[in-house]
Amino acid sequence: MIQMNENYLKLQASYLFSDIARRVADFQQANPDKEIIRLGIGDVTRPLPPACIEAFRKGVDEMADAATFRGYGPEQGYAFLREKIAQHDFQSRGADISPEEIFVSDGAKCDTGNIQEIFSVHAKIAVPDPVYPVYVDTNVMAGRTEFAENGRYRGLVYMDSTKENAFIPEIPKEAADLIYLCFPNNPTGAAISKEELKKWVDFARDSKALILFDAAYESFVRDENLPRSVYEVQGAREVAIEFRSFSKTAGFTGTRCAFTVVPKECMVWDSKGQKHSVHQLWNRRHGTKFNGVSYPVQKAAEAVYTPAGQEQTKTLIDYYLKNAALIRQAMTDLGFDCTGGENSPYIWVDGRRDSWEFFDLLLNKAGVVCTPGAGFGKCGEGYIRISAFNDFENVEKAMGRIKEALAD
Ligand SMILES: *Cc1c(COP(=O)(O)O)cnc(C)c1O
Repeated sequence: MIQMNENYLKLQASYLFSDIARRVADFQQANPDKEIIRLGIGDVTRPLPPACIEAFRKGVDEMADAATFRGYGPEQGYAFLREKIAQHDFQSRGADISPEEIFVSDGAKCDTGNIQEIFSVHAKIAVPDPVYPVYVDTNVMAGRTEFAENGRYRGLVYMDSTKENAFIPEIPKEAADLIYLCFPNNPTGAAISKEELKKWVDFARDSKALILFDAAYESFVRDENLPRSVYEVQGAREVAIEFRSFSKTAGFTGTRCAFTVVPKECMVWDSKGQKHSVHQLWNRRHGTKFNGVSYPVQKAAEAVYTPAGQEQTKTLIDYYLKNAALIRQAMTDLGFDCTGGENSPYIWVDGRRDSWEFFDLLLNKAGVVCTPGAGFGKCGEGYIRISAFNDFENVEKAMGRIKEALAD
C-alpha cells in the first residue's frame, strides 16, 4: 500500500483567500450594482515595460529561425542575464557578488520553498510572524515541525513583528539554524536599516546559522540609507542567501523570472563536523531538478537593465508608490496607525478591532477589499493589509469611499 507523506496532514488549511472570495461574492450578490475595488491582492496590475516586451518578442523571433534557435540553456541561467544582475543589482551598490553566484529561476516562491531541502530535517527554523506563508508550509511538508497548536506549529521559532518592535523582530533567544527574513516586508511593509540587519548578520556568524533573505520588494526602497540587499552589510557573504524576483520589480508575475544569490563563502556542516559549500549543494539541486527559464523570458528580464528598461521600471514602481502614499495618508488622516507604504507597496493598518470585523466593515460599507492581517499569522490579528497594486483612479475612489464609510 502506497503511503502518503504524513507531514502534509499537519498543514493547516489556509482559508484566507477562499474566505475573502466567498465574502466578496456574497456582498456582490446582495449588491449587484455596487462596484468593488480590490486592494487585497499581492499581484501587480500594470503591463510589462515596453523595453521588456520588445526584447521578449525578439527572443521569440530567434526561436523561429534555425540559425538562432536555442534548446536547453544553462540551468543556472544565461551568462548575459547573470552578468547584468551582478553588475547592476549588486556591484554598483558596493555588494561583491559575481555572476556565478546567481541562479536564475522561474520564481522566488519556488526558490524560497525549495531551498530548505538542502538542510537537515533537524535544522531549527526561525520565521517572522506575520509572514509570507511559503516559508512555514514548506518546512511543515519537510517534517521540521509537529502539529499546530493555537495557530502555531510546535518546533518552529516564531519571531514576533509588532508595533512595539516597529515590525523588526528581535534576535531569538532560542538557538536557530535557518532564519527567514523578508524586507521590505510582506505583509507589514516595514523596511530594515543597515544597522538592524547587521545585528542579524552578526548573530548568524556567531551561531553558524544561515539567513534566508527575501528581497522580492527591494525595488520599492526609495530611502537611500536603507539597504536593498543583505550583501550591503559587511560579513553577509558568509551567512546569507538572497532571493530576488522580477515579479514585483518589472511586472513579471505572469511571465516568471527570478533569481537566488548563493555566495561561495556560505557553509553548512555535516554530522561529522565537516564543512560543505552551500553554493555547491544548491548548484547540484538546481541542476538536477530545474531546467532553466525560457530564453525569451531571460531576454525580457535582461532588458530591465537597459537604460530604457531602468527608466520604465522606475516609472512603474513610482506609480505604485504614489498609490501607497495616498493610501497611507488617507488611513492616517482617519486616525489609524500605519506601517509601510513608504518603501513598499503594502500598508499595514492597525484597525483597533478584529481583522475580519474591519475587513467586513470596509467591504460592506465602502465596497473595498483588503486582506485581514490574521491570515498572515498570530501577530497579524487586529491589522489589515492594504495593497497599492491597482490603478490610481481606483485607489483614489477607494480611499474616498472609506472616508465616507467611517464618517457615519
Ligand atoms: C511576491 C513575492 C515573492 C515573489 O514570488 P515570485 O514567485 O517570484 O513571483 C517572493 N516573496 C514574497 C514575500 C512575495 O510577496
